[in-house]
Amino acid sequence: MVLDALGKSLRGVLQKIARGGTVDDALIGEVVRDIQRALLQADVNVQLAIDLTQRVKRRAKEEKPPAGASVRDFLIRIIYEEIRSILGKERPFEFKPRRILLAGLFGQGKTTTAGKLARFYQKKGIRVGLVAADVHRPAAIDQLEQLAKKVGCEFYADRAQPKAELVVRDALARFPPHFAIIVDTSGRSGIDPDLIAELGRVRAVLQPDETILVLDAAMGQTAGRSAKAFHDAVGLTGVVLTKLDGSAKGGGALSAVAASGAPILFIGTGEHLDELERFDPTRFVSRLLGMGDIQTLLERFEELVNKDEAQKAAEHLMTGRFTLRDMRSQLASLGQMGPFSKLLSLFPTFGGAKMDESQMEATQSRLRRYRAILDSLTPAELDDPHLVRGDRIHRIARGSGQRTQEVRGLLKYYDQTRKAAHGIASNRKLRRQLERQLGAGAEPHA
Ligand code: GDP
Ligand code: MG
Repeated sequence: MVLDALGKSLRGVLQKIARGGTVDDALIGEVVRDIQRALLQADVNVQLAIDLTQRVKRRAKEEKPPAGASVRDFLIRIIYEEIRSILGKERPFEFKPRRILLAGLFGQGKTTTAGKLARFYQKKGIRVGLVAADVHRPAAIDQLEQLAKKVGCEFYADRAQPKAELVVRDALARFPPHFAIIVDTSGRSGIDPDLIAELGRVRAVLQPDETILVLDAAMGQTAGRSAKAFHDAVGLTGVVLTKLDGSAKGGGALSAVAASGAPILFIGTGEHLDELERFDPTRFVSRLLGMGDIQTLLERFEELVNKDEAQKAAEHLMTGRFTLRDMRSQLASLGQMGPFSKLLSLFPTFGGAKMDESQMEATQSRLRRYRAILDSLTPAELDDPHLVRGDRIHRIARGSGQRTQEVRGLLKYYDQTRKAAHGIASNRKLRRQLERQLGAGAEPHA
């Protein structure tokens, strides 16, 4: 497995938390030291490791777990989140016909990655043209041709053409637009003006959708500097980090590249053509920390957090301060047997009256549309419904893929709910009854 040693140490930390006695300062201190040591051994930058563990320490002391979660689970959750945060954002990658430029220094794995990507595309049913624009070394052209044969994709090279950009120009004329075009370029031993100029000329002709830097994970932290230098010089859309299978320093390379701001799109995990994986930071951390447990834990937290929000929204409802934001939590918590489903039965629109199945279904699908609309409101609009008017209504409709009529419908429903809420807030008897129904924890604000 990739980053075996780091994973093992971190899983050891989690086990310590799970098995340990009470979660107190002593345990937190010990856990934080263990994490720090594990990160440093994986070559993670010292400052990054210190900052991370200090955040874990502070959050563990200051933040309160959501109602219903144990302190132990909460600590694990914090560690998960902080490690996840140093791996950068996930960037979507579309498998459709694209023009991809691969750049990088000698020996980093460009040509191999070109072959791996070609296979990835072909598996998705998209045909590929591999272009040999490493014009300086005949052996490199042969290597790519071999890979193209193995993958079973198209290949273009012109061994008599010394100008990379002209090879690319001719390749573009050769391959139809429904092909993914992957261009392998030549490397240098360092980022020199020659290399940058050549990449610039190739880019001008290719007009790539993706400019991807191929980096060897064995570089450790210096991979970050390299990513930044390339990004400044040619503008990257992503990075492929290769040879993570063999590198004990992978943690340093991953975190340093993420810190450079260039998203990691793929990781190479072996010499074979199949050994390329999409890099999904969340899944990567889950796996590192011992997948299954974390996954269920996260799901449980989502539920708890939703319930917390729903509770808050219920309180707002009962005190008459009910915003579109509250309504969004309300709709999000439908379906779960939260306090809201109880409340909801009291309201006019979805009224206490019995609905038959088709009415029920129509209501469900309307609620789904409302949710989509609420998701495209700005934070200010969620807090102040008066901002949703005029031209904004059209834009919100377009942004959420709904009709303007639907947006107006939502506003009307909101208004009805708010009025009903006001009625409840000012009706003592009804309010007490509701409080009893909602149970403890929903004490309305005075
Ligand atoms: P280029 O000079 O950047 O084109 O690099 P190559 O694609 O020729 O790769 C250089 C060496 O690294 C070759 O021996 C590849 O087999 C090896 N290589 C590339 N990617 C990986 C990887 O993900 N894992 C391992 N273990 N080896 C790799
Ligand atoms: Mg090469």
